[in-house]
Formats: sequence, structure tokens, C-alpha cells
Amino acid sequence: MTLAVSFQDVRDAAARLAGHAHRTPVLTSRTADEQLGARLFFKCENLQRIGAFKFRGGYNAIARLDDAQRRRGVLAFSSGNHAQAIALAARLQGVAATILMPADAPAAKMAATRDYGAEVVTYDRMTQDREALARALADERGLSLIPPYDHPDVIAGQGTAALELFEEVPALDKLVVCVGGGGLVSGCALAAAGMAPGCEVHGVEPEAGNDVQQSLRAGRIVTIDVPRTIADGAQTTHAGVLTFPIIQAHVRDVLTVTDAQLVETMRFFAERMKLVVEPTGCLAAAAVLQRVLDVKGARVGIIVSGGNVDLARFSSLLAGGA
Ligand SMILES: *Cc1c(COP(=O)(O)O)cnc(C)c1O
Repeated sequence: MTLAVSFQDVRDAAARLAGHAHRTPVLTSRTADEQLGARLFFKCENLQRIGAFKFRGGYNAIARLDDAQRRRGVLAFSSGNHAQAIALAARLQGVAATILMPADAPAAKMAATRDYGAEVVTYDRMTQDREALARALADERGLSLIPPYDHPDVIAGQGTAALELFEEVPALDKLVVCVGGGGLVSGCALAAAGMAPGCEVHGVEPEAGNDVQQSLRAGRIVTIDVPRTIADGAQTTHAGVLTFPIIQAHVRDVLTVTDAQLVETMRFFAERMKLVVEPTGCLAAAAVLQRVLDVKGARVGIIVSGGNVDLARFSSLLAGGA
């Protein structure tokens, strides 16, 4: 079966992103290396534009539109990082963006999305079907819908995070990546297959939302209820029809971590590395630092996916609240 995205697509995305996305730093921690007897390389996408890797996929998808599509504009539905990614990537490319958000989304997120220049359209989460509404809006206004993960150009764009890491750090034995709908891990796995074929790719999901782990075992996409977890960027209910076959082909396994392990990892990043990382951004590091994945003696790449967390929530999580 041919996959929806190739390694060459990831390379092409990197060329489109050059000079627009940040080439984020790769940081290390002697303390963690000594504790684990390994060499860890943290690719810090919490320091990416908009504070998460989603800028990569969003920018790449918009750059691939034709002139007529660009004139009409783009649409996304999200209350999280994808909304801000599309809003900023569209503005930078002179394209109008409409973002569909629940009316009860945090005011700060709505304001940030508007500040990036997008039009925010709200809907009632209890009574309105967001996907039907998005399709109706897209049809009525002729907008191109850009989904958060299940889109070839989005997947290729996300893969550039790992591409940069492999360029900078040779001979990695393992690459560990968080998994929501699987856009990031599938793009990164394609980059690994192209640049470091001996490197094993491991996905990490929240324990309560292990739909991709279940799907790999079942050999088909399993859909779960919206999981209860502090990792709000990975509260997806199922993998994508494009991402899942790439995960099956190129990801060795998917592990899980608990919310308590995510909080411990947020604390590690803040105390030891002086980094603010959102709960979802801690998934991959948590699997390594909390010894869910054995890394002894290995050179390990870890994608730190994002840093957008309200500071009041950040401090309450660290203080032991919800
Ligand atoms: C969206 C997101 C994820 C999950 O990415 P997928 O491509 O859906 O797997 C992980 N971390 C952060 C910070 C995100 O914004």
C-alpha cells in the first residue's frame, strides 16, 4: 500500500518553511543523562512560533494552496494550538483565515487567535455539530478546510521537526514523539525512515487516551470516548485514515504515561531546564524520564511538542491541583 506522504514531501516542506518557521534549539540535561545512563536530545518545539510544532504543518498546508484557493481563504476548527498556527501561517502568507471555536473556549485563546488576524466564528458545543458547521461554512464561503492532523501537507510539515533533529544530532538510536491524532508522529517517522533508518520511533499517548495503542494492536483504527486527561492536545478519539497507515509502517510501538507522570515531567522541565512545557508537550519526555521506555546506553531524541499553558493552570498543576 502506498502511504499518503513520502520522505521527499517532508524534505519539500522543510524548504517551504525555511526562514518562516524557527529552527528550534536542541537542548540537553546532564542530570537526566546521568540518572538514566543515556544521552537525551530535546527538540524544543515549545519555542516554535505560536509555541508549538503545529505552525509547521499549518504553514506548509497554506503554502501548497493554489492562487484561487488563497484568494478565498482557509478554515480550521480548533480551540488549541492548531487555531493559532493557522491564524499566523495564513496572515504571513496574505491569506484570510476563519477559525471555528466553541463559544466557551478560553477568552485568552480566542483573543490570541484574533490577534494573529483570524476571524473567529463561535458555535455552541452542546447543540451544534462542529464538523457539519465547518463544512457548511467552507462550502458557503469557498474556504479550504485545513484539518489538524489528517492531511498530507500537515503531516509533511510536522515531520520537519524530526528532520531538523536528525540533521543536527547524528546516530540517534530512538526517537520518542507524542501522539494525538498522529500527524506529528507520522511525519517524524517518515523523516526517521529517510534519514536514520536504524532509529526506532516510539509514540506516547496519555494512559486514558490510548486509542492509537489499541489501534495498532487491533490492526484497525479504534475510536474511544473523549479521554479525561490533562494532556488536552492529545484528547483525540481516533487516529486519522492517513496517519494510521504511516504509524503502522514506521512506528515501533505506542506507550502510555499517566497524568501524574506528566506533572512530574513539567516540574523537571521547569526546575532543571528552565522550560515551560504544556502537559501534552511532556508526553514523550515523560515516557523516557519516568522509565516507561528503557533507554539505557542509547542516544535518544525527544520531541517537546508545545509550551502553551496558562500560567495559573501551570502553577496549580505543579501544586497538585487539577
Ligand atoms: C496537536 C498537539 C499534539 C498532538 O499532535 P498530533 O499531530 O495530533 O498527534 C501534541 N502536542 C501538542 C502541544 C499539540 O498541540
